[in-house]
Amino acid sequence: MEKVRLGRTNLFVTKLGWGGIPIQRVSEEEGVSVIRAVVDMGVDLLDTARGYTNSEHRIGLALQKTSRQVILSSKSAVRTNEIYGDVQTGLKQMEVKKIPIYHLHAVNHFQDYEKVMGGGGAYEGLKRARDEGLIDYIGITSHNLSVLEKALEEGYFDVIMACYSFLEPEAAQKIFPVAKAKDVGVLTMKPFSGGVIEEAGPALRFALSTPDIVPIPGSETLEKAKGNWEIFTKSYSLTTKDKEYIEILRKEMNQQFCRRCDYCQPCSEKISIQHILGLQTVVKRFGPVAQELDWFQSLVEKARNCSECGDCLQRCPYQLPIPDLIKKNLAWYDNLRALNKKNGV
Ligand code: SF4
Ligand code: SF4
Repeated sequence: MEKVRLGRTNLFVTKLGWGGIPIQRVSEEEGVSVIRAVVDMGVDLLDTARGYTNSEHRIGLALQKTSRQVILSSKSAVRTNEIYGDVQTGLKQMEVKKIPIYHLHAVNHFQDYEKVMGGGGAYEGLKRARDEGLIDYIGITSHNLSVLEKALEEGYFDVIMACYSFLEPEAAQKIFPVAKAKDVGVLTMKPFSGGVIEEAGPALRFALSTPDIVPIPGSETLEKAKGNWEIFTKSYSLTTKDKEYIEILRKEMNQQFCRRCDYCQPCSEKISIQHILGLQTVVKRFGPVAQELDWFQSLVEKARNCSECGDCLQRCPYQLPIPDLIKKNLAWYDNLRALNKKNGV
């Protein structure tokens, strides 16, 4: 079973980690039993976040029922030194004395980066937590590779977390070699590109066959957790069939898949382009309740104001036809709503 050294942390973990987003979608009992199973199978690293509602708490419950030691990784999107309070909450929720890896969460813009690294910023709060022994290593997560490049260049982080899948492979060139040279551990998120890739085999084999990184696919059912583990414990070189599937999906999604980099912003109508382009993933993640959430309704209503000015088109490095994709996603959403109404959902 392959283990990966997480850079200068000198922690060795199974190459397959686990991510705590999906267990929010199931009942507490189901969530806890999935986490227990993942730990019992042999996964060494569990990643979660303060922002993943009940995820830290469920991990805490599951860890009470197993004696196997795992490495915990959590994160907070608080941008000031008050992040220290989130570390304390995480410790209570997970019922542990230490969270070995703690990240600044979703630092996707340079303004955020300046804020977290500046005086009174979140980095200071994490240094305090590290000095007091509440955490061991400080990490940073981002959807923006340029922010991660800067973070690596400045050298303050022991671990970084980047998006990486066969639809979003850019980190392999831009980030992984620098991280290796600087001896920084690499966790990778979104191996299924937020649910766009439906076949687990090619998605995971692609990520697992990349050296020195630890992908952290989440799983909310026992079946998915076991399936991921099976892929990991068998040979994970890409098969001919995988390569064909990858090529087809890459071609199909080339002009449709939003990498959530936000380079297209700002939009004069204040449309959150990446969230509208990922509308189907949001609905999948939150289920039918998504439509009831205020932020979701405001997201959709703002998108209806797209004036098709085209400003965003010039900024998207992937040449996505953004106004067309907004219309397509809104039409998909309106159809879903009509269908749900008909079925009384
Ligand atoms: S085309 Fe639409 S989404 Fe793009 S910047 Fe203009 S208003 Fe915003
Ligand atoms: S539309 Fe293009 S620029 Fe905007 S977030 Fe998506 S990939 Fe990035």
